[in-house]
Amino acid sequence: MRNAQIYTFYHENMVLKNNGRNVSKSPQKPKLLLNFLEKNSLKGHFAIKDDFKPFSQEEFYLAHTKEYVDGFFAGKRNWTKSSNLDWSPQFAETVRYTNASLYEAIKFALENPEKVTFNPACGFHHALPEHGLGYCTFSGQVIASVKVFRETGKRGAYIDLDGHFGNSIEDARKFVSDLNLAIPKGIGNINPEDKHQKFINNLRRELGLLRDAIHDKYIDYVVFCHGADSHEDDDTKGQCTTAEWIECAHIVYDFVKKIDEKRRKPLPLILGLFGGYRKDDYNSVLGLHAKNLVICLNTLCGQEIKYEPILKAKKR
Ligand SMILES: [Zn+2]
Repeated sequence: MRNAQIYTFYHENMVLKNNGRNVSKSPQKPKLLLNFLEKNSLKGHFAIKDDFKPFSQEEFYLAHTKEYVDGFFAGKRNWTKSSNLDWSPQFAETVRYTNASLYEAIKFALENPEKVTFNPACGFHHALPEHGLGYCTFSGQVIASVKVFRETGKRGAYIDLDGHFGNSIEDARKFVSDLNLAIPKGIGNINPEDKHQKFINNLRRELGLLRDAIHDKYIDYVVFCHGADSHEDDDTKGQCTTAEWIECAHIVYDFVKKIDEKRRKPLPLILGLFGGYRKDDYNSVLGLHAKNLVICLNTLCGQEIKYEPILKAKKR
């Protein structure tokens, strides 16, 4: 049996204090989500871990050119504009924490596999070695998993159910020599194709391959990021109806539960957030994320929480 709470690597320095002109609310998402969980009487299910250090500037060199990293932290416009997020010294500080949070969450889950861990952030999976892209500044997945691999030899797989393809892992393979070991090619970056039932069928097929890789001890931990922009009412028009989006969460947690039972020990599981951009009702985005977390708590952590998100109908 797993621990009853989700261990959440949240530090207030992860959060941009003033979102300014940003179209994306992602720089404030960690705090918006935690406030939302509190308002819905769910916060008690999350154990907050804030005793971690931010990444140093040098740690970003692992997945990015020195030119980009140094230019970004110095606030040089050529380098700061690529993620489409307004730069400020405080914003630069937040990415040191959001990226470190994912690394710490993976490390802690490997050391404590009975505890599900959570990186309540986003802004990683489109960044390239040479610059940011699509609201993503640095390749947090690459940095975290390669650091973990170099320290422990453990290999990970990402189940990326964001509406957009997570390109940063594939685009960093030539740049980072041991990335193919840290996040194995083919099985380490699952992004199902297509929409609706075909999307779900593709997810099931890819999880079948992942199950074999885990049983063969080729994959040691799984990071699940159920982006809310794969919902059809998101501003970026995702692949799934509400029922399908929720079904995907059940499929993944049931998959983990079966693996736990077969191995007779818990699979290290780390959760992430990724996208979600509804300007008409951001609570619909947060509600989907909360629902996903509740399904995890009920399926894997022995809870029986009743929670249904209130999703605003989209004007079409
Ligand atoms: Zn997305």
